[in-house]
Amino acid sequence: MKPTLYIKFLTSYALFGILAFVVLCTFTQHSVNHYLEQHEAQQLYRESAQIASDYASSFANNTLSLQDFQTQMQTLGNYLSAEIWVMDNEGRILFNSADATVGQRAADAQYTMLPRFDTTDFGNTYSMIGDFYGSFSEETLTVFSSVTANYRVHSYVLIHKPVSNIIRTSNQLMNIAFFTVGIVFLSSFLIMLFFTLFVYRPIRKITRVAQNYAKSNFEPRIGLHTNDEIGFLANTMDYMANELDTLEEDQRKFISNVSHDFRSPLTSIKGYVEAMQDGTIPPELQSKYLGIILFETERLTKLTQGILDLNRFGHHGIMLDLADFDINRMIKTTILTFEGTCSKKGLSFDLVLTGQELFVTADMTKIQQVLYNLIDNATKFSHNNSAIKIETSIKNEKVLISVKDSGIGIPADSIKKIWDRFYKTDLSRGKDKKGTGLGLAIVKEILQAHKEHINVISTEGVGTEFIFTLPLSKREQEQ
Ligand code: ATP
Ligand code: MG
Repeated sequence: MKPTLYIKFLTSYALFGILAFVVLCTFTQHSVNHYLEQHEAQQLYRESAQIASDYASSFANNTLSLQDFQTQMQTLGNYLSAEIWVMDNEGRILFNSADATVGQRAADAQYTMLPRFDTTDFGNTYSMIGDFYGSFSEETLTVFSSVTANYRVHSYVLIHKPVSNIIRTSNQLMNIAFFTVGIVFLSSFLIMLFFTLFVYRPIRKITRVAQNYAKSNFEPRIGLHTNDEIGFLANTMDYMANELDTLEEDQRKFISNVSHDFRSPLTSIKGYVEAMQDGTIPPELQSKYLGIILFETERLTKLTQGILDLNRFGHHGIMLDLADFDINRMIKTTILTFEGTCSKKGLSFDLVLTGQELFVTADMTKIQQVLYNLIDNATKFSHNNSAIKIETSIKNEKVLISVKDSGIGIPADSIKKIWDRFYKTDLSRGKDKKGTGLGLAIVKEILQAHKEHINVISTEGVGTEFIFTLPLSKREQEQ
């Protein structure tokens, strides 16, 4: 898998960082400068208007001495970090707060002239930025207010402040902005690092292992043991791999067993039919061999039915057709099927049933199949002239059904394997050639579907007892 999504994510992250930086350097810086200039211009304008009305007019009317005016303007200029000028209409600089000698100026002293001075250059903002007709060596913000006396403009108050002061403030603000964006970028980087370590890398690992699973290689395990959703996903995948692994192994075993069980009867059928065809078996012996062929075909039919049943039950449960029925009656009718075999082997049934009727809630046909299989096994593996005991009892709202024989028994090391498909104990092979080894596997599936249990107690050479449970029907519980 190409980590395209991750690369896209990283690229967008880097782009976001670059874009944020560029926007800060251009748009934000420009806006802050503009805002500060406007703000400063407004403030200076207010100051100049104040001076114009309070001081300059009284100075023009000769009610304030030049000396006093100069002291006040110098203080104010220092406070504002600006120069305060008074100019007349012709561009004569009548007063400059930065000129300390103004107070001692001789009466006939020449005024500095700025003949190009024209208030229309300010536009309608009362402020301008520049060197003010070459008066300053650096960029300066200048605002003006008119001083009126006797209804006419007598002179102008101008305040000049170097733009570098405003830029210094702007830079300080920008530093704060850069610092904030830097912190945001760094914390998002930490989030991304966290995301990479705890989300992206585990997901990549899971994906890589899942690709192996898709190729039926269940060997690698994810092995993430974190206590979160990803850890849970990894554990589930590991569990799934285990299950699939055993399932595949089971399937292989199942297919090899099926093919083996089909091949042997087919080989013998083919052998006998060929021998009859080419005359190796003379016609007078043919009926004996046809009997064997019939036996083998019956076995094949039984095998096919068993496999079909198991396949139908599958892993995900069987659809049960639950109903109340009398298990005692079912036992009695089932044993009738075995009358023929029993009389041949001299077997008898010993029924110990609870009361007359005993109702259970289960799938009738399937429980019939369970009973049939267990009684069939008991008859097949019983010694001649012995008794098979079938017992029903009630315990904790459950009905216990036991089928007990006195037969060959099951060796201790085989007891767990009898539930496996196709498994037959060595002891039983000689006794029953027709058996497929699927009966108990089907029994187990059926009872598991009912969420009930089956147990086996067996002693080799003594006998075997199978006990399974069924739910007591509601009507029995109410009695
Ligand atoms: P099928 O049920 O298809 O006729 P089967 O009886 O051989 O074949 P299962 O019913 O699954 O198959 O039984 C599996 C094996 O368990 C038997 O082959 C036998 O070896 C052993 N077994 C089952 N029941 C008994 C029993 N009552 N006594 C002794 N061995 C038994
Ligand atoms: Mg059986």
